[in-house]
Amino acid sequence: MSAYTDELVGASVIPPIVLPQLVPSRTCLQCDVCCRFPDPDSALRPYFTENEITKALAGGVAATAFPDRRGGQVLLVPAAHGEGYFCPAFNPETSTCRIYEQRPLDCQLYPLALMWDEPQGQVLLGWDTKCPFMRDEIPEDIQRHADRTLDLLDRPDIREQLVLHPRLIGKFQEDVVVLARLPHLTDALARHWGPVPVHRFTLDDIPRMKAALDRAGWCHDRSLAASSPVYHYMWNGLLAYWWVDIQGAFCLFAQSPDGWFMSLPPIGAGSIDAPLSEAMELLQRWNGDSPASRVENVPSQLVPEFERLGYRMTAKEPDYLYRATDLATLAGDRYRAQRALCNRFEREQSSEMGLYRLGDRQDCRALLANWSQQKQAEGLGPFGAMLLADAVPAHEVIWSQASDVGVTGRVVKIHGRLCAYTFGYWLTNTTFCVLLEVTDRTVPGLAQYLFRETCRTALAEGAVYINTMDDAGLPGLRASKQAYRPAMLIPNFAAFQARK
Ligand code: SF4
Repeated sequence: MSAYTDELVGASVIPPIVLPQLVPSRTCLQCDVCCRFPDPDSALRPYFTENEITKALAGGVAATAFPDRRGGQVLLVPAAHGEGYFCPAFNPETSTCRIYEQRPLDCQLYPLALMWDEPQGQVLLGWDTKCPFMRDEIPEDIQRHADRTLDLLDRPDIREQLVLHPRLIGKFQEDVVVLARLPHLTDALARHWGPVPVHRFTLDDIPRMKAALDRAGWCHDRSLAASSPVYHYMWNGLLAYWWVDIQGAFCLFAQSPDGWFMSLPPIGAGSIDAPLSEAMELLQRWNGDSPASRVENVPSQLVPEFERLGYRMTAKEPDYLYRATDLATLAGDRYRAQRALCNRFEREQSSEMGLYRLGDRQDCRALLANWSQQKQAEGLGPFGAMLLADAVPAHEVIWSQASDVGVTGRVVKIHGRLCAYTFGYWLTNTTFCVLLEVTDRTVPGLAQYLFRETCRTALAEGAVYINTMDDAGLPGLRASKQAYRPAMLIPNFAAFQARK
């Protein structure tokens, strides 16, 4: 079995890699498969190495397309008209790549594709039958082309690039026809990254993670909102999430610009001791001695065990947990201000609240852009501005995949104009988590009204508690969460291994 992962790439100058092309460019110009994607976090987004990012930036691709300059999948841009997303290097008017001569290895390979076999033990080279040209072309020509490409992929410099950027090797896909195995590359990856199979965390893995959380008994009313797959999955557009099965425990890792970390402790039915120790060995292998190696979102019940194992625990911002009836009724003096704002909104506006539909996506996008400008005009600090920019891909994931990930959304329209949206999920049968909330800040009382209505709906559907997650350390957000009188703050910790 082989493992794969990704790591820092040195700043050395790497000669350009040029692969032979089989599909004539006139065919590509008439086709609409490549460079366009249905979802913002599509697994098929092109991967750029550090060197390729430098070239893409020089070619005019926006820096915001590359959240991790050391290498990663590009952030897609929404299509200006209609549904879907484009690679930021794609020019939809001419259907061409703006950096064609400098396009990454990932794109040069296509419609050939590097992928793992189903058990993740072998790297394969295949051809993607989604490419219409490859469907028509005679197989001998494809095989000849693949053989030429294989010789190049076996070159030590190219193999080294693949080992350092294993996300260039995708997951097994049934519509990719296998042409060859790459034993040398498989061995090189195993030598570099270790013997444990590491899987990209995708939509298909959500049920697996849910089952592990159930087995571990982590989901109860006072659990952290992070005890849910969607909490992590939504950041897939920004970070890269991976999971590893270690001794029956589901271990979720995130790869950030600072390095790798576990975004939750190992999730399993038994003691965390053995899987945690193996997971930390992986972090050590991938990060070296970087302080990025840590376990995030440790619930308080696991703190004694971490401490017994010698970990240093740091308190993070807690989650805010409220009684649903308090927020749905806003009764009494303590909620006078919020109640007055809700009343004002109802008095002054004629609005309708309805379920979010995929067709609302463009309006949500416009609202989020507007809301970000309003927040910045109000004097958001640099940290808040960074959080805001980072949040955009996460909102995109939720807008396009809400129903797939078990999230419900609601929108408020005033005279037909979408001016607020909210999304949330059920952590347990009786705890509803508010995941996202965006409103037009120029409409007095809209935010309070949206929140109260969300809580009323949740209460009617069985909620006893409402979890609104943490305040990200932002004083304004903290004040407004405190003003709603939480029933409790759910402690959250990060764990660091003691230095040897
Ligand atoms: S880099 Fe160029 S070829 Fe690759 S997906 Fe983007 S637009 Fe297409």
